[in-house]
Amino acid sequence: MANKATISKKDERLLHTKSGNRCAKCNIVLVDRSVCVGQNAHIYGEKPDAARYDISKSVEYVNSEKNLIFLCSNFHKIVDTDVLLFPAKVLFKMKSDHEHRVIQALQKGSLEYTYAELEVITSFLVQEIGKKSRSVNFELLRLQDKIEKNQLVEVQGYIDIGLLSVSSVEYYLNRQPDPSFAGKLTRVFVEKYNDLKRDGNDAISIFNSLWDFACNDQSDYKYRSAGLALLVYFFEKCEVFEK
Ligand SMILES: [Zn+2]
Repeated sequence: MANKATISKKDERLLHTKSGNRCAKCNIVLVDRSVCVGQNAHIYGEKPDAARYDISKSVEYVNSEKNLIFLCSNFHKIVDTDVLLFPAKVLFKMKSDHEHRVIQALQKGSLEYTYAELEVITSFLVQEIGKKSRSVNFELLRLQDKIEKNQLVEVQGYIDIGLLSVSSVEYYLNRQPDPSFAGKLTRVFVEKYNDLKRDGNDAISIFNSLWDFACNDQSDYKYRSAGLALLVYFFEKCEVFEK
């Protein structure tokens, strides 16, 4: 049984993002509006009496994202009970196959989302304006520098998917009748970023929280891809993440 206290928030958020917030076995959505009903299951068990425990694995490795698989409670119970049917090798393959399907679904979503999905998410986002407002200075940085400085290398693959369709976001924003629309969205992202930063979140958690926020916590891949492109658009414009 995964003990949350021993898994860092960063590793947990990375696991959920790579899993598309879904169970690696049955693909049901496990995170909704920041409420998580899924479980971070250890592949190699954490304690000697745990399933698939291997004394040669360090505690750090065992509690890292690499050794975790995101599962619903039903399936977590099954894999920890029937270890002959679910040895580590089978779970590592299940995890990587699932994460690969998530990437494919996001890539497909990037080609399929339209102004309709952008309309839904951006009209929600602009309503968030001014709920909390603070001022902050942002400096321009090259995207790659920023990825490194923000320690986002682990989510680089998702940033790349977002980059595939940032031009759609740009066209969409350019045809808005309200000339201040893009500025309003920037402000919403900056405010959200500041809140997350102030709460002490690391870069990976901030990126993932902003992504969930950008797609209004919707789990449909068209919305997740549209939200990712929107986030990456502001990221690329150097307006959201600070130095
Ligand atoms: Zn499941």
